[in-house]
Amino acid sequence: MGVQIRRTGVYVMGLIISANLAGCSAAQIHTEQAKQAPSQLSGITASIESGGSPTPTPTPATATAAEAEVKGLDTAIVETRHFYTGPPHSSPPAGDKIAYLTFDDGPSASTRKILHILKTFGATATFFVIGTETSEGKSLYREIAADGHALGNHTYSHDYNRIYKSPEAFMKDARKLDRLLEETVGYRPDILRFPGGSNNHLSWKSGGRGVMNKVAAAVREEGYQYFDWNVSSTDAAAPVQDRDMIIDSVLSASKGKKRVIVLMHDNTYKTTTVEALPVVLRKLKAAGFRFDKLQKTSFTFQFLEP
Ligand SMILES: [Zn+2]
Repeated sequence: MGVQIRRTGVYVMGLIISANLAGCSAAQIHTEQAKQAPSQLSGITASIESGGSPTPTPTPATATAAEAEVKGLDTAIVETRHFYTGPPHSSPPAGDKIAYLTFDDGPSASTRKILHILKTFGATATFFVIGTETSEGKSLYREIAADGHALGNHTYSHDYNRIYKSPEAFMKDARKLDRLLEETVGYRPDILRFPGGSNNHLSWKSGGRGVMNKVAAAVREEGYQYFDWNVSSTDAAAPVQDRDMIIDSVLSASKGKKRVIVLMHDNTYKTTTVEALPVVLRKLKAAGFRFDKLQKTSFTFQFLEP
């Protein structure tokens, strides 16, 4: 098992162990980002709350310290792990590079722009949506589905205090979105993304430190597969992230990987995500990736230990 630790940037806040896709026999430890200066990291609670990446954490000092307390690690490092839980990948061919673009928190005023760009590139993607009862919101659910993209459950309320109280509270909220989607598009998703990711610490406040493992177990028992990400666009690291930072983050984190699950956001105010998207699509394509939507049996990347 080759272990390689690389530290970059001013702060090293994410440590992701990514396993070899073929058999998970070899693991590499990558430190993922975070290149933002401390000043850029302040005041990002709102963007993290909206389903942000595991790195950077909303309050780096306390989060990393808390993580270290749990894991016994250097306070500069947050550890997350990957365990592949899906079926063997007999197809597509081993050389095939697949990018699963994922858009969290929609629908929003950006949804149609994202759909238009995806259509232009002939790319399918995954939208982890939240609940809205407006006719516009329901139209957008339908348009996402009609364009051939996957709809995933991102909970109805996206309210950390509500959903992470207990596994029961989480499932109640998730099922509410399922019912809405079934009424609107005719099916219930079997794929899910946890607000904040499966290793988020914001859940600790309402549900205690062990709550995410319990919630993840409940979600599996209910028949969902959940998906974190192995590439962050960093578009949640600032209210409006720099467009080039989004492009560079996706491209650099995708290097050397054959399967990437890219975290992006479908949010009215995240205009630079939309601006970056055509360039991201073009450059990933040039790097040999094709685009696909997530399904229950797709490659997954999960931060929590099973
Ligand atoms: Zn979210």
